[in-house]
Amino acid sequence: MNTSELTAYEIAVAQFDKAAAYLDLKPGQCEMLRRPKCELAVNFPIRMDDGSEQVFTGYRVQHSTARGPAKGGIRYHPSVTLDEMRAMAMWMTWKCAVVNIPFGGAKGGVICDPTTLSRRELESLTRRYASEISLLMSPEGDIPAPDVNTDGQIMAWIMDTYSTRRGYYTPAVITGKPIELGGSLGRAEATGRGVMLSTLEAMKYRGIDPEGATLAVQGFGKVGAPTAYLLQDKGCRIVAITDISGSIYHPKGLDVRDVLRYAREHGNLIAGYPLADSIEADEFLGLDVDVLAPCALEKAITAKNAPRIRAKIVVEGANGPTTPDAEDILADKGIFLVPDVLANAGGVTVSYFEWVQGLQCFFWSEQEVNARLDEIMVRSFGDVLRTAEEKKVGMRVAAYILAIDRVARAHALRGTYP
Ligand code: NAD
Repeated sequence: MNTSELTAYEIAVAQFDKAAAYLDLKPGQCEMLRRPKCELAVNFPIRMDDGSEQVFTGYRVQHSTARGPAKGGIRYHPSVTLDEMRAMAMWMTWKCAVVNIPFGGAKGGVICDPTTLSRRELESLTRRYASEISLLMSPEGDIPAPDVNTDGQIMAWIMDTYSTRRGYYTPAVITGKPIELGGSLGRAEATGRGVMLSTLEAMKYRGIDPEGATLAVQGFGKVGAPTAYLLQDKGCRIVAITDISGSIYHPKGLDVRDVLRYAREHGNLIAGYPLADSIEADEFLGLDVDVLAPCALEKAITAKNAPRIRAKIVVEGANGPTTPDAEDILADKGIFLVPDVLANAGGVTVSYFEWVQGLQCFFWSEQEVNARLDEIMVRSFGDVLRTAEEKKVGMRVAAYILAIDRVARAHALRGTYP
């Protein structure tokens, strides 16, 4: 079957089914875990700067709350769909379970192109969307965070909207907030730090010395940029970076922080960076590198382009960047894949730390945050690798086996109400 044609949710279910086959789940349990627990769709008007009203559609989907409050980011993108939110909510459940933090999974989004909105329109849209989904949102029930095209400022508006409705300051309702509002030190880089740690563990497993190892990073946002400069700090050569505006290449390695400085001065885009060659997106994926880190959007690696990939390791910084048929091709080529639910779990792990700090109003040093994150990431990588070796499966199936087992046990212990 050409799984590149499957929707994100169909892919998520196919991945679940593949791993569930290794577990002794009851049919009812399986059926529950394949579906989202709760879905909210909202249509709401926003007054635009020209005086007109425009109606926007947003979603919040909770996949599971068996192990704790639903947790997951909020995406602003023209391609947001309910199907995509379902998939990403399910992936969040497994991700939180893989790293064993006490959260379930959720995802939210608004269909919009934030680049076409003024700051005032963006704030209105955010506050109204937050108000609409506050049916579900709460520090105990559902805690959003940033995702594609959302940031600390947007989290601050959501926190303020929720707090205003409640009548008191409620920092633990959202993570990824600015530090001044109870955000955690280390959160901004946490996902990239987790990708960096997973990459180093994968290199260790494959016998690759990080010093001088070559990397190509797709996506240069909140995940891709820290992934690239943190790995550069470990001695790796980041030879290529691509984003929505284009791809840049330097065989000796890019100065990632300089690229970041350039991007910040050019609308967060890398195209035109003067100290590198520009290459085609197609050429980018086929580069002869040690590691390819897709850190942009879903379905970046498909059956069409997977045969051209020459990296020894693929580390999924993004959620769902590899379609199942592409994954089979990578496996046949002997490419070691670190799945999203493990590789990019650093973000939600530090979100958990931020939530704990917010509830207690007691804040940790960046060193403490990073030390706890490092320990969880390295331990989780080891847990998944051990399961992969024991069951003779790939890393994704292994991560799912661990995660589904943890969630199913929580379900079973809680029992069925009434
Ligand atoms: P972001 O908006 O900060 O950055 C996205 C980047 O991808 C941008 O550089 C953009 O130009 C690039 N991009 C978009 N379309 C592209 C394309 N077709 N080709 C190449 N590049 C493209 O988003 P982010 O927060 O970095 O999220 C990226 C991925 O990581 C998403 O899949 C997200 O769900 C996942 N993720 C994010 C976090 C987090 O903490 N932000 C945590 C876990 C997973």
